[in-house]
Amino acid sequence: MINSSRLVNTFLDLVRIDSPAGGEKDAAEFVAAYLRALGLNPKTDKLHNVTATLPGKGEPFLVNAHLDSVAPCLGVKPRVAGEMIRSDGTTVLGADDRAGVAAILEALSVLSQDAPRAPHRPVEIVITTQEEIGLFGARAVDCARLKSKIGVCLDAYGKVGTLVTQSPTHDTLDVKITGKPAHSGIEPEKGVSAIVVAAQALAAMPLGRVDADTTANFGIVHGGIARNIVAPECTLQGEVRSQRVTKLVRQEKTILRALAHVAKQHGAQVEMRVTRMYNQFRFTRRDEVVRQVSLALGRIGCAVSLEASGGGSDANIFNAQGIAVVPVGVGFEKIHTTEEFMPIHELVKSAQLVVELARL
Ligand SMILES: [Zn+2]
Repeated sequence: MINSSRLVNTFLDLVRIDSPAGGEKDAAEFVAAYLRALGLNPKTDKLHNVTATLPGKGEPFLVNAHLDSVAPCLGVKPRVAGEMIRSDGTTVLGADDRAGVAAILEALSVLSQDAPRAPHRPVEIVITTQEEIGLFGARAVDCARLKSKIGVCLDAYGKVGTLVTQSPTHDTLDVKITGKPAHSGIEPEKGVSAIVVAAQALAAMPLGRVDADTTANFGIVHGGIARNIVAPECTLQGEVRSQRVTKLVRQEKTILRALAHVAKQHGAQVEMRVTRMYNQFRFTRRDEVVRQVSLALGRIGCAVSLEASGGGSDANIFNAQGIAVVPVGVGFEKIHTTEEFMPIHELVKSAQLVVELARL
């Protein structure tokens, strides 16, 4: 049985520990100490990822959540009001994703206590760091040492019962436009404005929701050196995401073509660097991981809802490494804002889900 006050206390303890991306050492030590108290032998790597295995019988499965939070996340003072946990309004709460971590720890407590009467299969625990700034913790996990073929990532938006069965491939774009400086009052015709090239190219390319599978955005523009100098350089930082890699590549070509076309008209140069952040995944009801998670959700009375996401998570990294990991909703709300809150019953359900998965 889930001990809901113990679970809430674990969650409160966790969110009170400062854990910005890159500063998760203390939170990782809390998790490692909790696991040691259960008799496990956790390992912590250089990035403070914590991994451990709860031994059991049968096919192992993986549970994953991340420890880092987005700013403002220092000095969180959680407030419990009835069914809800919130921050004091000056910081995020950090339920994203300490809710996932707390639920996993509570489930492991229950499984360890009840093991003689209620056997379970092995559970591989992977608690990562630096998720919010680019899935860096997960990237550093040695997946070859993991034995699980399937798993859950307790880090998705939506109520417990939500399964993210589609996530896009995500590339970042770094564009550098090089023009030619000139005095803008005396001889502007001798200059080539990189800012004008950027503006015309941006206006000519499809951005936003490009099609049902694809989005594109340029979110940062930097350029120019002075009011009275024709801008010799302009840089653009953007991204493209798509559920279909062919569409992603097509969109990137369209962007580059627009840039090159305008640059040529003005006599400017363009370079574009494309960096893959993560690869897409797609599951259907027939996939074993979806079948098992749905079965476990059924046992705790949760309706299953399969959803597509426009974002990524640690699951994208595990899936690319051959472990079928599905992100599951943990019920946190308004994440990445100071209004973030966590309903306690969702926290309990997340822990129950992990327990039921272990007992399948
Ligand atoms: Zn998260």
